Amino acid sequence: MSVDDDWLKVAARCRECGAVYSAWVRSDDSVQPIGRKDGCRCGATTFQPLSKRNDADAPAARNGSD
Ligand SMILES: [Zn+2]
Repeated sequence: MSVDDDWLKVAARCRECGAVYSAWVRSDDSVQPIGRKDGCRCGATTFQPLSKRNDADAPAARNGSD
């Protein structure tokens, strides 16, 4: 049943330009934008997840570390 159980769908923000994409967080915590295997439109390939699997249990996660 849970084929892709190790992958979590999140929103992720480009570390370079701030664009937000839907993305997968893999079991090794790497972030893969969905449908963008080459990374962001700006060419960057590093993304900051905006939500994580334990977000519901961690209200302190939203502390605006912008
Ligand atoms: Zn970008």
